[in-house]
Amino acid sequence: MFGRTVSRAVLGRGVATLSTNPTIRLTATRTYATVRNSPLSEKLSINGDRLWEDIHHTAKWSAPSPGGVTRLCADENDKKVRDWFRDQLLALGADYKVNATGTQFGVFPGEDNSIPPIAMGSHLDTVATGGKFDGPLGVIGALEVMRSFKEQGIKTRAPIVLINWTNEEGARFFPLLGSSIVYAGRSTVEQAHAAASNDASELTMGGELAKIGYVGDGPNTFKEFPISAHFEIHCEQSTDLEKAGKPVGWVEGWQGMTWYDVIFHGENGHANTYPMYGRRDALTGAAKLVCELEKLAYEQNGATTVTGIHSRPWGACNIQSKCKMTFCLMHKEAEGLEQMGKIIMERVKSIASLHGLETETDRTVHLLPGNFWPEAIDCVRLACGEKGIASRTGTGHDSTMTQLLCPTAMVFARAKDGISHSPKEWTSKEDCAESALVLGKSVLNFDDYMKLKAADATA
Ligand SMILES: [Zn+2]
Repeated sequence: MFGRTVSRAVLGRGVATLSTNPTIRLTATRTYATVRNSPLSEKLSINGDRLWEDIHHTAKWSAPSPGGVTRLCADENDKKVRDWFRDQLLALGADYKVNATGTQFGVFPGEDNSIPPIAMGSHLDTVATGGKFDGPLGVIGALEVMRSFKEQGIKTRAPIVLINWTNEEGARFFPLLGSSIVYAGRSTVEQAHAAASNDASELTMGGELAKIGYVGDGPNTFKEFPISAHFEIHCEQSTDLEKAGKPVGWVEGWQGMTWYDVIFHGENGHANTYPMYGRRDALTGAAKLVCELEKLAYEQNGATTVTGIHSRPWGACNIQSKCKMTFCLMHKEAEGLEQMGKIIMERVKSIASLHGLETETDRTVHLLPGNFWPEAIDCVRLACGEKGIASRTGTGHDSTMTQLLCPTAMVFARAKDGISHSPKEWTSKEDCAESALVLGKSVLNFDDYMKLKAADATA
């Protein structure tokens, strides 16, 4: 056994392989002359005070998290904010449904209900020690748009659906994008329900959703419930808008990212008496991998983050015989991302061989870099006008799932110092309102675009 390395690489096991083929859209040369600022979008205004109040009102549903929000998927605070969102949708007259992965849908009819609805969605659950904006701004901003449509008598041709997706962050259960991944047909309800808690307890996402009463019988997949497009506001999580002095941005695409689980298996032994030479310490292997990951990011001009380490056995007197590490690799280019994956797997092998460890490696999520749909980006770009710039996101969102299915684009709201996943996350009241206005206008532009396209087709 000593010195033997067993490597089990379960690559792309289908549970959460998010690989897309971005080259198709990257090379598209179509012109989208019919996207314009719709006449209706000129009329729209947003109640920035109400949006701001709701962001802060709902932020109180949080575990202790000074200044920020800790509202993990399917915890008691998540139930409270979900109940609130349901009540708001019903008060607006929505056809309301919850599906098996806890996704909340509120559908509002249009002039032609044979057309699949245009969606506005994001997530109300947050990471631990998160901020008030990552997620909630997208859902509450969408709610504000719908309220404004109603108040201002703005009626779209296509129906509209507001969506609160579940476990986008993967903060409590892995994998991330917990419900949009099922909606996109890249995972199943059963797999989502079996998603394991990151705290190494036996809790699952399905069990916890059931506890708060959020396993419903609504549609789970795009096939069952297609949408015409998906638009999402998100705080920028970077400083491009701030540097440019712009409140909003249209998001053209995302960088690639891959998550791995690596388990080092070593040998149990006495922490005090076992000789140093010949130890098979799993945690030492993991520590070396942490350092290799940091080096790799600089070598390859990418980024790497270790997001979890679980080491066993418990106790003060044991050499650690099993250590599980979760980490992610990020790169703007697909080749760079693949290269980083190859290199780090080689380094796992050499660490294991040096310390006599066995390894299990599992590439759990693989999302290549890509671009959103040009016609949807154009809708957001025109809605931003002079107030926006083009931008790219450094991470995955529910929109990276819906873009597999239908025209999708995102609206960025300026974030102070680019900080996110921290209580310091901050977007001003004015910028929140501006981003909601852009979201509403984007939906109206897309509705108008579909109408013009349909007219072209029958002409
Ligand atoms: Zn988010």
